[in-house]
Amino acid sequence: MHTLSIYEARHGLLSRKFSSVELTRCFLDRIQKFIDLNAFITICEEQAMESARKSDAKFAANDGIGELEGIPFAIKDLFLTKGIRTTAGSKMLYNFIPPFESTVSQKLLDAGAVFLGKTNMDEFAMGSANITSHYGNVINPWSSGGKKLVPGGSSGGSAAAVAGHLCIAATGSDTGGSIRQPAAFSGIVGLKPTYGRCSRYGMVAFASSLDQAGPITKTVRDAAIFLKVISGYDEKDSTSSHSPVPDFESFAGKSAKGLRIGVPREYHIEGMSPEIESAWEKGINIMRDAGAEIFDISLPHSKYALPTYYIIAPAEASANLARYDGVRYGFRAEGAKSLDEMYEKTRGEGFGEEVKRRILIGTYVLSAGYFDAYYMKALKVQKLIKKDFDDAFAHVDLILTPTTPTSAFAFGEEPTDPVTMYMNDVLTVTANMAGLPGISVPICVDKLNRPLGLQLLAPRFREDLLVQGGYVLEQNSNFPTLKEII
Ligand code: GLN
Repeated sequence: MHTLSIYEARHGLLSRKFSSVELTRCFLDRIQKFIDLNAFITICEEQAMESARKSDAKFAANDGIGELEGIPFAIKDLFLTKGIRTTAGSKMLYNFIPPFESTVSQKLLDAGAVFLGKTNMDEFAMGSANITSHYGNVINPWSSGGKKLVPGGSSGGSAAAVAGHLCIAATGSDTGGSIRQPAAFSGIVGLKPTYGRCSRYGMVAFASSLDQAGPITKTVRDAAIFLKVISGYDEKDSTSSHSPVPDFESFAGKSAKGLRIGVPREYHIEGMSPEIESAWEKGINIMRDAGAEIFDISLPHSKYALPTYYIIAPAEASANLARYDGVRYGFRAEGAKSLDEMYEKTRGEGFGEEVKRRILIGTYVLSAGYFDAYYMKALKVQKLIKKDFDDAFAHVDLILTPTTPTSAFAFGEEPTDPVTMYMNDVLTVTANMAGLPGISVPICVDKLNRPLGLQLLAPRFREDLLVQGGYVLEQNSNFPTLKEII
């Protein structure tokens, strides 16, 4: 039962093959059995069983059955969940119980989803390996010759929970790659929607102009089903879009014939492993064999995307994180003798190293003497990056690239300097900078048994194309699905 997709579970529940209580019990047991993966910060056993019983009552009455009725989900711990602790992976929010629900999680609840718990994540979503969480590292259910692997980040707990079959699907958030990169490292599907497609209301903010919620799932079809439920205009988020929400699922299975696919030459970055290059080639061949036309394209400003991201994202983070001062909510340091000292001690003790680094960078690039040189300049470069994509999408429907420049690294082999760690997102941040949707689909495992993913990017609000193209990749990749944790 634990390997079921949303699509299969929905069918099983509707045809009464099993109940939501049985399904939910199965996942709660697996979460305990594989507790060492550390995928969850908070497990909501009682609430989960209670909502499973409610779903079963709806099935019995054949009334009020939602689109995700009775299906067990996990929620990244930066979506505020009313009455359920939400930490964002930080000590700063170790005791924070939100008084309201995020729009995305509310939409899932309204559709009948069962919440198993809140998943572990890099602190305030800053990281690429889930090694910056105050609640410990997350372990990837995949392993490599006895070595434990990182699951990617920052949605590492969600990715590990989906890949390890501790839930059927999970929410993620993607500011620079945090849905797609962990999906690639964990051999599953991750979809980052267009900026504005899903409401940010009730998500702990990292970089507000880049943050976007999205699905982490076992299959492309599931990502489509999930995305439809969480999409749509929300008056509580001023950047949310009125763009109509199509039935994304209907694009799973649509032929790739005539699709024009661009392969950007600048994404052959220096030092990319031959295995990534050949995985990319495999994807290109799959799409060509399915009837797509392949074009060599150029995105000339790609190389500036990562440095630009590391100005804009920390700048916004430094502003967003100013609210954690020990006064309003969360952690407060003890023993301060003045108000200023209380702020300083609280922030000094409450934030981890990576978060402090980002706040320092962000404060620096926004400071009076450097604002024009760094922040304003970065915004101008961002416009050029956007224009590159506009020019490319005048000729192609989709862009195909690897998701990451390497496969998952083992514990002990992870980069120790921050800049090398930041390189993980070099192929994913461009989509955030341009507000575009992207999907990562598993394509193969490398020689070390580590999953690799390919990324498709589409024009704004064309997630339908991601589902169409992603489904073709998925159906033809022969990716070895992880049936048991190894
Ligand atoms: N890894 C990137 C960072 O650390 C992206 C994180 C994200 O998308 N939330 O900023």
